[in-house]
Order: sequence, then structure tokens, then C-alpha cells
Amino acid sequence: MIYADHAATTKLSERALHSMLPWLTNEYGNPSQPYSFSRKPRHAIAEARARIASCINAKPEEIYFTSGGTESDNWAIKGTAYSHGLEMKLITSSFEHHAVLNACHAISGQGWQVNYVHPNANGIVTVQELSRIITHDTGLVSIMLANNELGTIQPVRELSDISHQYGSIFHTDGVQAVGHIPVDVEKMGIDLLSASAHKFNGPKGVGFLYIRSGTNLVPHENGGAQELGFRAGTENVAGIVGMSVALEENIESLEKNRSHILSLEKLLLKRLSGLNVVQHCSYAPHLPGLLSLSFPGFNGEAILHRMDLIGISISTGSACDSKRTEVSHALRAINLSEELAKGTIRISLGYENTEEDIRAIADGLKRVVTHK
Ligand code: PLP
Repeated sequence: MIYADHAATTKLSERALHSMLPWLTNEYGNPSQPYSFSRKPRHAIAEARARIASCINAKPEEIYFTSGGTESDNWAIKGTAYSHGLEMKLITSSFEHHAVLNACHAISGQGWQVNYVHPNANGIVTVQELSRIITHDTGLVSIMLANNELGTIQPVRELSDISHQYGSIFHTDGVQAVGHIPVDVEKMGIDLLSASAHKFNGPKGVGFLYIRSGTNLVPHENGGAQELGFRAGTENVAGIVGMSVALEENIESLEKNRSHILSLEKLLLKRLSGLNVVQHCSYAPHLPGLLSLSFPGFNGEAILHRMDLIGISISTGSACDSKRTEVSHALRAINLSEELAKGTIRISLGYENTEEDIRAIADGLKRVVTHK
């Protein structure tokens, strides 16, 4: 099996797995209890919080653990809207993940006005576009750090600057970016950042929301006093520890992984160069190893299934969309022609991929697209 769908999820790292085991076996104390058996899990959570904070240049008390990217996005959007009331307006982009789009859709059904900014043909939301629609009533701007289908990296520093000039909070969905490119919440001017462990070789079902001190959000879950009373519920100790170790490991190896993955990406493009293939958004900065490619005249879904038959996992769009055949909203947002959009596949490489994998992927694609 060759796995080339790392934007959908990643393999749990050995180091993360080992760090999780004590909390799944003998150290099962509830972190909230006052007796000594609960001291270790409580300390483990505090350490994990500090470890994560240092990976993104935040303070430990600005990290709130959640169940993953979807929850973090929902909290950032609904939590800001509910704490500010109907007078605030929101802006998001038309190619966000559904976790953001559907959270915005839900609150617009409750009366909030949501406006949409569109990426350009290169998959970038420009400051000029945001400037055209932002007003002093805008309370929240939510624009992703890296797009999950195209891999394009957004000019977050510029987008947050303009948001702040209008007095708005700036949220970014960093699910695809955290652990893969440098993320510094101070340098990037981020007020709210969503992340998910399973995208950076951590466990599934755990993530975090960075909330800059002083940012007003209503609590996401009401209940006990966990997460300073903002996200109640007994903590997923093993998941939280595993996530922090996975993130630290990825940050330590960021440069090494980046250059390995970029060399694989180059090799793949070279081996595909004789085919009729279009790389989308190739002029924009993009996540290492995330390629959105189109084979005109072919159907992306059919390519996916034929690659699957030879043991290679790739995607057609975002993972959440892979059961639907309609053209994804992200491809529509960059105004791809119907033919190119339908022929689109997504290949997302990870650090464990090898040159041998790349040769097999390229050979597989050649075979699939030369025999209709
Ligand atoms: N945001 C983006 C950009 C994603 O790619 C994903 C997952 O595909 C999510 C949010 C949802 O994250 P999770 O699977 O942790 O809920």
C-alpha cells in the first residue's frame, strides 16, 4: 500500500504513540481529582499545553484542548458571534473547509450576516479582495492558513493586519498548516487558530484552539471547570499528550521534512511531465507535497478508484467530500473550468514517502491516463 493522502490524515508517530500509552493503561486517574493519583495526568496536561504553546509562540494559558479541527473552527466562529451579538458581521472565504463554511451557515441562519471573500485563480485570498468588503461592523474575519484541496498558503499576516485595522478579530483554520510550515501566532497576528492532531502525525479526535489573551469568546461546552471553564468535559489525556509530542517532533524536523517532501514533489512532477496534466495554483506558495492536479478528459474519481486497485491511496478533493462526485466548492471558488475540475486529483505526500513510492505513483497515473 502506498499512502499519498496525508492531507486527509497522517500516521501516528512512534514517539507520540509511546507518550500516550501510560495514560491509556495504568495512569488512568481523572486529572480533576485532588488526590495524588491524579497529579501525574494533571501535570501531563500542563506539560502538553506548554509544549504546544512553544511550538506556535503562544502562552500556555492561550491553548484550549478540543476534539479536533471541526470543533475548534465551530468554537472560534460561534463563540465569537455569540459573545458579540447580532450587530457584528463576519467574513470568511468561499473555499474554506466545511467546518468553517457550515458553522458560518449555521449562524447566518440565526441572524448573523456573513460575507464571502473569493480567492483568485491562484488560490489566494488577497488583501485587496478583503479590503473591498471589510467594514467597521466586521467582528470576525476567518480565512484559512492553507487550503486543504489546493495547498495554497494564504497571506495571513497581511490579512490579519487589515482585519485589525477595522477592529475585527482574525481567526485562521490552521489544520493543514500546523506542524508542516512555521506558524507563529505573534508574527502572523493571529487571534484564533484551529489545529488538529491527526494532520501532524498525532492521534485522531483531538485538537486545540489558540485563543489570544483578551479575545472574547463564549465557552464552547458548559459543565465542569476543565479548560478554565471554557470547554468542559474530562480531558482526553492520552490524546492531548500524544498531540503535543507529535507537534514537537514535527516542528523539530520541519526543515528536514520540508526538503525531503519537496524533492519528492519535484520528482513526481518530472515523471508526470510527458502527460497531459495541469497543476493548479502552481504560482502560489503551497504546502510541501500537496499537489492539486488535473488530467483533462478524465474523471478524478475514476482515477482515484483505479489507483486504489493498484494499492495507491490518493484523493479527488477534500477527504470529507470524497464520496460526492460533484465538483468541490474549492475548485469552483478558483473558477476552474468544469472539465479541469472534474479531472482533478489531490496527491499529498508525507515524510514517510520514498522515491520508490513516487515512481510507483507516477507509473500508476501514467497507466491510468493512457488507457481510458
Ligand atoms: N479544517 C481543515 C482545513 C481540514 O482540512 C480539516 C480536515 O480535513 C478540518 C478542518 C477538520 O478537522 P478534523 O478532522 O480534526 O475535525
